[in-house]
Amino acid sequence: MAVRSRHSDGRSATGTDEPLASVPVIQARDLAKSYPEGPAVRGVDLTVPAGQTFGFLGPNGAGKTTTIAMLCTLTAPSAGRAWVAGHDVVADAHRVRRQIGLVFQDTTLDQGLTAWENLRFHARLHGVPAADARTRARDLLDLAGLSRRRDSLVGTFSGGMKRRLEIVRGLMHRPRVLFLDEPTIGLDPQTRAQIWHHLHELRRRERVTLFLTTHYLDEAEHCDRIAIIDDGRIIAEGTPAELKTVIGADRVELRSSDDRAAAAQLRDRFGLHATEGEGSLRVRVEDGAAFVPRMCAALTVAIRSVTVVRPSLDDVFFHYTGRTIRETDQGARR
Ligand code: ATP
Repeated sequence: MAVRSRHSDGRSATGTDEPLASVPVIQARDLAKSYPEGPAVRGVDLTVPAGQTFGFLGPNGAGKTTTIAMLCTLTAPSAGRAWVAGHDVVADAHRVRRQIGLVFQDTTLDQGLTAWENLRFHARLHGVPAADARTRARDLLDLAGLSRRRDSLVGTFSGGMKRRLEIVRGLMHRPRVLFLDEPTIGLDPQTRAQIWHHLHELRRRERVTLFLTTHYLDEAEHCDRIAIIDDGRIIAEGTPAELKTVIGADRVELRSSDDRAAAAQLRDRFGLHATEGEGSLRVRVEDGAAFVPRMCAALTVAIRSVTVVRPSLDDVFFHYTGRTIRETDQGARR
């Protein structure tokens, strides 16, 4: 395998546009943005390996959109540096733009054009040769499940169809990274699930890195890695499973014929302190699934139901911020 050196700024020493495979596709070092009203992003470090789905998670106003805007060259950082596909987002902004696709919160599709025309127009803007653009548009419409509607005006599409079209449009010029700002916001749960199905498929087929923001914690479970941002700072980063290990334990919820006796037996036989909540007893144990049969065998009271609750990203967010993401969002809306 050929080994090539790279400059300290992450660019290829060959001076070509081609990034090095070993270089993370996105890097940020102490990236910050301040407005006269105050700081929006307060020094963010990020390393995103190529080919991953990276989730940027945080409540309203946390700094997600501002960070994406800096990585996409739409806003100049006030401090720090960032590289996308090996190119500096300030010094090499035009090279960065060639390597990225963007899907914004608000649609930028032309509602008065057909799906096909929207894709072809985008291809022309990005200098994709016409023959290539035709094949590409056909493939991507197929991937988005929109082939049958290719000649319909986008204005007649549902919210989910527009989103799918917008996502594949961002891939027309074969970017290495697709940035998506809240790709599922405002969509119903079924459509959100469908968008995620398409995103997984696109990532697999196109080998593109997906960098997306969300404030839906359940959606962050779809990501390979997550960074949680709050008040302009990254407060935790890792895989969903890694992040959940900080919570450490499963919660076992038990409904029984005699909660007081059950609590005493849990204490005496397992040394566990049970808390009461919503009509059930709750204990924290390392491996809930393994504990349940032992518990059922040991308790002499009648057991009505047992539920094992795995640690969630809600628990993780609460652990780091002392708030649930919903409380934070409500605070931001007030
Ligand atoms: P949301 O999910 O609501 O889009 P976000 O996490 O993307 O939130 P940002 O949009 O990045 O958050 O905003 C971060 C902070 O920076 C907020 O306090 C916001 O008011 C502020 N901010 C963003 N853009 C500007 C601007 N152009 N001028 C002044 N303040 C701004």
